[in-house]
Amino acid sequence: MNWLTNFVRPKLQALVRKRNGADNLWEKCPGCGQMIFHRELEQNLRVCAACDRHMQLPPGERLVSLFGEAAYERLELPQVVVDPLKFRDEKRYTDRLRDNRSKTGEEEAAVVATGELGGNPVVVVVQNFAFMGGSMGLAVGEAMMVAADAAVERRTPLIVFSAAGGARMQEGILSLMQMPRTTIAVSQVREAGLPYIVVLTDPTTGGVTASYAMLGDVQLAEPSALIGFAGQRVIENTIGETLPEGFQRAEYLLDHGMLDMVVHRHEMRDTLVRIVDLLGNRDRREEAVLLPALTETTETTETAETAEVVEPGAEAETLPERTAAAAGDEGADE
Ligand SMILES: [Zn+2]
Repeated sequence: MNWLTNFVRPKLQALVRKRNGADNLWEKCPGCGQMIFHRELEQNLRVCAACDRHMQLPPGERLVSLFGEAAYERLELPQVVVDPLKFRDEKRYTDRLRDNRSKTGEEEAAVVATGELGGNPVVVVVQNFAFMGGSMGLAVGEAMMVAADAAVERRTPLIVFSAAGGARMQEGILSLMQMPRTTIAVSQVREAGLPYIVVLTDPTTGGVTASYAMLGDVQLAEPSALIGFAGQRVIENTIGETLPEGFQRAEYLLDHGMLDMVVHRHEMRDTLVRIVDLLGNRDRREEAVLLPALTETTETTETAETAEVVEPGAEAETLPERTAAAAGDEGADE
């Protein structure tokens, strides 16, 4: 048996993989079924030219789309405890990790990098759905902590591209603990008065939606991205109702006030450059507020509006009052 599994099987797998290589030059669009040549798809940032479907973008390509080749630096992430529960389903968790590492060429489901957007430095986290469904385990929690620390230390905005099926069940309760942990990471950024921007990509669900993915000062999403906590079928079975069309899709969430903008992938970089410039640059923001008459261009009008919507300072001022009032009410009840 050992000879079969250790020698024959890898040889066969290698043979099959090689044959698949030729097929992999063409990819089928899950939206319209069109076959697209891989180079064309890459050039188009993995957006289908026929139906505009936004397919999942690997972290490397995402970083290049934001910063250009070699104009960013990946931050090293600390090692985490491997397989703390000695988990096994059909496969050992350690084997699954190894397979995903060789499949994606990445160490874990999240990547942290720094670079400049329109001259302003930023820290970016990109989640990788191809790596175990982007699931949030210890390593993703660690990535969020590293990113938040880097943003605070360098006084830059933090941008997260989320993509996840939720928490990593192979790490049990430890993966659920990453929900409060990443929430603390986000609040560190907020306390430092720095912008936190979330870009929800297809799909963002489960514990990730229930923590850092919905806490942005500005919430963006890619077109048609699936965003939700529980799956549609689970909700339908629970409430015994048929859900409306487009439920849990980016456009539906935008219509219902859960998002600020749905942004096409081809316009994502420019949109982020604009937002970071408005929020990240305190001097410019003050200038825009103080001198609206002198700089009356469409650009500054937009500036003032956006700055008003997500002014982090204003929120910080009103929050303590509210808390104090709430505390006072409780006292009165007793
Ligand atoms: Zn298509």
